[in-house]
Amino acid sequence: MSNGIGRRHILQGGGAALAAAAGATRAIAGPLEPDRIVVNARVWTVEDAQPTAEAFAIRGDRFVAVGSTSDIRALAGPRTEVFDAQGMTVTPGFIDAHNHPEGEQLLYEVLVGNPFDVEFVTIAGILDKLKARAATTPPGFWVEGFFYDDTKVRDGRAINVHDLDKVSTEHPVAVHHRGGHTLYCNSKAFELAGVTRDTANPYGGTFDRFADGSLNGRVTDLAMDRFAAVGRRPTFTPEERDRRALEGQAHMSTLYARSGLTGVCHEGGSLDALMRLRDQGRLRHRVNYEADEATLELLIKAGVRSGLGDEWLRIGASIEHTADGSLSERTMAMSRPFPGSATGYRGNVTQSQEDLNAWVERVHRAGIRPNCHANGDVAIDHVLTAYERAARLFPVKDVRWKITHCSQLTPSLIARMKALDVTPALFSTYPYYNSDKFHFYGEEIMRDMIPFRSLLDAGVKACAGSDFYPGPFSPLMALQAMTTRKGWNGEVWGANQRITLDEALRVHTLNGAWDTREEAQKGSIRPGKLADYVVLADDPHRVDPGRIKDIQVVRTVVGGVATHQA
Ligand SMILES: [Zn+2]
Repeated sequence: MSNGIGRRHILQGGGAALAAAAGATRAIAGPLEPDRIVVNARVWTVEDAQPTAEAFAIRGDRFVAVGSTSDIRALAGPRTEVFDAQGMTVTPGFIDAHNHPEGEQLLYEVLVGNPFDVEFVTIAGILDKLKARAATTPPGFWVEGFFYDDTKVRDGRAINVHDLDKVSTEHPVAVHHRGGHTLYCNSKAFELAGVTRDTANPYGGTFDRFADGSLNGRVTDLAMDRFAAVGRRPTFTPEERDRRALEGQAHMSTLYARSGLTGVCHEGGSLDALMRLRDQGRLRHRVNYEADEATLELLIKAGVRSGLGDEWLRIGASIEHTADGSLSERTMAMSRPFPGSATGYRGNVTQSQEDLNAWVERVHRAGIRPNCHANGDVAIDHVLTAYERAARLFPVKDVRWKITHCSQLTPSLIARMKALDVTPALFSTYPYYNSDKFHFYGEEIMRDMIPFRSLLDAGVKACAGSDFYPGPFSPLMALQAMTTRKGWNGEVWGANQRITLDEALRVHTLNGAWDTREEAQKGSIRPGKLADYVVLADDPHRVDPGRIKDIQVVRTVVGGVATHQA
């Protein structure tokens, strides 16, 4: 193979591609014969200079040429592996900018809801699962259920303290809402926590009540802290802990690959397990590691900054530092009362402006990208205030301040984000999965909620953050949600925030790479970039928009290596 071949095709990508590819070519020794070519595909590159193609070539872990089937076939040598896509669609690998890799929960805990898709359950069914766990659990130990969703219950009401008392009066029992900001407790749990009907709500949280003032079982945000240190939980030997962590991360990696994800921003999880997984050759996706608060302290102490690592495992922003409550559980901090609230409830602010300022300044000065969780407009204002302050006190170029969720925006908040170049990781699958909750907000509020359209129009590089475990992480469900704003129940909320399919593809690929400062390395199909891509059985541009989520992911490839094959 001659140098001329690469040059001819690389030129199709334009000058920037030429420069990137030239760098990659220099790094590769030996002949320029591709290891693999993909031909006869409908390739959506997410590159403005060459948005579509039929074929591409890979050498090592990089794309080296993108073009027509005949041009790319001409590059192949005797050792080149040819993948004939037979008209299937190829997109860049999907990047999830916010995901909690709770594989251990999936493998070892009681699941009382479907983590991956819309599925209705019954309260009786939940209680049966918990009773079975209680039967093998010593008294005094917690019996817990995960992935509960209060609007996916056939009974048409939320589970409560009386239901959970039927599971056990000897065990503390808790059902965790998948949103992560509320739990439902039995009487034993309240007793151990010393919470009675006379207990006042703490700062940043509530103990919810029935109309008669008695506890109904639901506990929100910072009020959940009361239950953290009470009751007993199983202990494990260090070896057992290590094995569970490893298998949990391995499970997540398999699930991510199956869904078409090639890069994920991890909210905590065991960094050690991820490193071991990689050593064993079992890591199937690229990890941008957003350290939990305890790990963050170790990183800061060690002088580690965001960006350390390589394209497989890199230290990213901080974990989401929580400024308010939840969208799905209706505890986010809004400037107006929740519609229909008898008490004028405006949600939970979970940190004072002063504390937020101090946290952001400290993390920013340490060279870690600050990342705060904020859903409601009040909390987003607090976070932006803290970012603006830190930027003034300690100016750094191109920080890419991150806001996780960033759900409810106003034009003035968006203008402040644009001025500071904030990267928001918006819920991606919620408009489909959680459409049954949007009536709690109403159309007027929903027009400004998860506002991809407004952000892209303002030039803000919004990216997709599924927030698994709260949200399903299927990128195809996300594309459907972002483009249609239509829920599983057929309801459409905030149709003004729809974006086009090509925009949604960019949000879930290149904008995700931008979020982790890796846009020169990945996120689109261009010579010189990492060969991360997905083969889909059908083109999302061609199917009924309501069926995008059902398209089969035929193959997922990371760095030229298949991580999933249907
Ligand atoms: Zn989260």
